[in-house]
Amino acid sequence: MKKEIRLRYAPSPTGKLHIGGARTALFNYLYAKHTGGKFIIRIEDTDLKRNLVDGEAEQIDNLKWLGVEPDYYPGKSDNHEELALLRQSERTSIYQEYAQKLLEQGHAYKCYCTKEELEIEHQAQKDAGVKSPKYSKKCLLNHIEKPGAPFSIRLKMPANKDIFWNDGIRGKVTVNSDEIEDWVMIKTNGIPTYNFANVIDDYLMKITHVVRGEEHISNTPKQLYLYELFGWEAPTFVHLTVIIGENNKKLSKRDTSVIQFISDYRERGYLPKAIFNFLSLLGWSPKTEEEIFGKEQLINLFTFEGCSKSSSKFDLDKLKWTNNYYLQLLSKEEAFSFLETFLPKEIKTKYSLETQKEIVELYRPQLKEGIELNELASIFVKPKIMLEEERNYFENEAKVKEISQFILENINSVEWTIEPIKAFIKTLGKALEIKGKHLYQPIRLMLFGEEHGPALSELLLLLGKEEVIKRTNEQS
Ligand code: GLU
Repeated sequence: MKKEIRLRYAPSPTGKLHIGGARTALFNYLYAKHTGGKFIIRIEDTDLKRNLVDGEAEQIDNLKWLGVEPDYYPGKSDNHEELALLRQSERTSIYQEYAQKLLEQGHAYKCYCTKEELEIEHQAQKDAGVKSPKYSKKCLLNHIEKPGAPFSIRLKMPANKDIFWNDGIRGKVTVNSDEIEDWVMIKTNGIPTYNFANVIDDYLMKITHVVRGEEHISNTPKQLYLYELFGWEAPTFVHLTVIIGENNKKLSKRDTSVIQFISDYRERGYLPKAIFNFLSLLGWSPKTEEEIFGKEQLINLFTFEGCSKSSSKFDLDKLKWTNNYYLQLLSKEEAFSFLETFLPKEIKTKYSLETQKEIVELYRPQLKEGIELNELASIFVKPKIMLEEERNYFENEAKVKEISQFILENINSVEWTIEPIKAFIKTLGKALEIKGKHLYQPIRLMLFGEEHGPALSELLLLLGKEEVIKRTNEQS
């Protein structure tokens, strides 16, 4: 029987779903689906102190929202047998069992050294000119069992051994074991380190491809050596290149000038399809000029050959453009149910449902983020405060008095639909002998407090006759 292809996204629940994490999850997902395989979420929660209370739920919920649907994830009721426990915190005894095997075989040893002792030894080696000092040297030299004393378990790395793999993006990568210290597999508190638990889990969960960020390249030789010791077939490793910001530096979660969490984009009114499409092109290319791809298309096209070897730039304008594109594909009903929440609250009580829908339609063509609707539509609640320049023009140059007088005298007989409203504005212009800017600008400023916006007749229609009268009175 052919082996099932399995990929996993293995976040630590120490933070919210980040653009980089979402991209990693997406590429794992696309490849799994491309090959008819399975996509799994495993939670690497061994750093108990750093775990967020909702970290796990936040990651899973936002991935599902994006459409990166896992086949198996922690807590799912029908998880496959070997995927029943997908939280590392539930698997401590499993790791200890495997560590024990390596201890018995002499491939690992107990380390009783304190952090300070190791630091001193490390420094001494550095001072003596050792290129890659190993923390463990002292520990090996003075190695004695200390019954009852706390210890960690370290892997004994072999001397001068080339460890290599054929990376799905980078080709052959080789690291010499002399560059790797005798790393800790199990900490003094009995909890495994990332490198150890990761390998045991990938093996037991029958993971065939490990797709992750390039910051993990230095971990791969450590992990590969474990596969060798246990006599296990290693998965294919694929290391994605970094995502950089406008400043050409790696996106850092600490940089608050860039929104980096998926939940924030979600709150700002991005469609999941738009983010899905955008993320797929962040380090992967179908080698065409096209920018718009649906999920099925991406699943068909995605392979690691299309993954970039250089870093990819996070281009917020492109994300906004993509979101605007997808917003236009929605039906009127869909657009309303997605964007409704961004309408100013007062609009919900002041206008009929049909008018609310039309207000959304009025602005939809220009929206990049749903949240922009809040500010744009606020003129239906109350006019904006004019800018100084606008106020100067309005008070000193425009025929405000005449315009408002004409409106108040004639508006009652106007049928409140689009064509009669257009005709009404025209008649007003003719009567007062003003046109173009001199006609439209004062009316816009008087009723809405801003010079530009969607078609004036549409604005008037939606604002409603009564409100037009009220605002005209307030300005005259
Ligand atoms: N928990 C690791 C991380 O969040 C997973 C790395 C891996 O995929 O092996 O970076």
